[in-house]
Amino acid sequence: MHSPLFQLFTDAQASLQGSTLYVVATPIGNLTDIGVRALAVLAAADVVCAEDTRVTGQLLRAYGIHVPTLVSVREHNEREQCQRIMQWLQEGKKVVLVSDAGTPAISDPGARVVQSCHEAGLTVCPIPGPSALTTAVAGAGLQAAQVLFYGFLPPKMVARQKLLQGWQQVDYAVVLYEAPHRIVDCLQDIVTVLGEQRLLVLGRELTKTFETLRRLPAAELLAWVQADSNQQRGECVLIIEQAPPRAQADDGLTAEQQQLLQTLVRAVPTKQAAQLAAELTGVKRKLFYDYALQLKAQDDDAE
Ligand code: SAM
Repeated sequence: MHSPLFQLFTDAQASLQGSTLYVVATPIGNLTDIGVRALAVLAAADVVCAEDTRVTGQLLRAYGIHVPTLVSVREHNEREQCQRIMQWLQEGKKVVLVSDAGTPAISDPGARVVQSCHEAGLTVCPIPGPSALTTAVAGAGLQAAQVLFYGFLPPKMVARQKLLQGWQQVDYAVVLYEAPHRIVDCLQDIVTVLGEQRLLVLGRELTKTFETLRRLPAAELLAWVQADSNQQRGECVLIIEQAPPRAQADDGLTAEQQQLLQTLVRAVPTKQAAQLAAELTGVKRKLFYDYALQLKAQDDDAE
């Protein structure tokens, strides 16, 4: 009588097909964060394509898995390796694609191989599992209902600040991957562009021994990271919460908003102009509508 776990493992293996590319997520730190199906696929693979064969070798050894062929598929050789992978798949082999950690093709190589398989009509089977993206979101307690995954920010300040400007008024959260040596600069830019109060979540060394997870306003998080050099090491995910609701000027529109409405009323009917301006700015439609009527009255008086 086999244990239920063993039965699940053998059932998972029995369902595997040849001529299939299995895209398998692997742990982002804690080696035990891997599913039964992912292990079953790795144990049955004819070929495992890894980013760094030493990193994947460690994972395979930890589970006592020996694979017949372990090759490296990295950003710089992904195009050439595609040919070999296609060949193996056409010969009926089970090919597994992994990255060093987490889910392949999420800020990692893999998409090109997957694309080639689709183009060649070969079966692609993704096996879900860890990703720093989903792990950080799960631990963040976000207010935002929607999440944008951006990945790595540009390393240069000007480009980074320009990009951040686009997130000044968003009603979704933005997930970033950041290198530890840039985390302070990145937080500084967030404080400058998005303000001291914008809520952030920092997930560092997730699933590892020195995991930290902090949800703080930007200026406080910056001060906390600056005060502790340990927080400037290891792997980081940074989440920018949605923008706080904008203070509604009940008593009127800003000069910029008035200018916007004046431009719109020249192009479209009053009601539509008010609606568009409200959608563009997040300010109440009625304020724009009343202002449009005011403009109209002024025009009528002038005639
Ligand atoms: N494909 C991976 C995934 O699904 O998460 C991401 C690969 S990307 C090259 C590596 C980046 O992911 C790191 O620089 C860091 O931003 C983030 N990351 C990976 N592991 C992490 C961890 N344990 N804790 C926090 N961030 C992590």
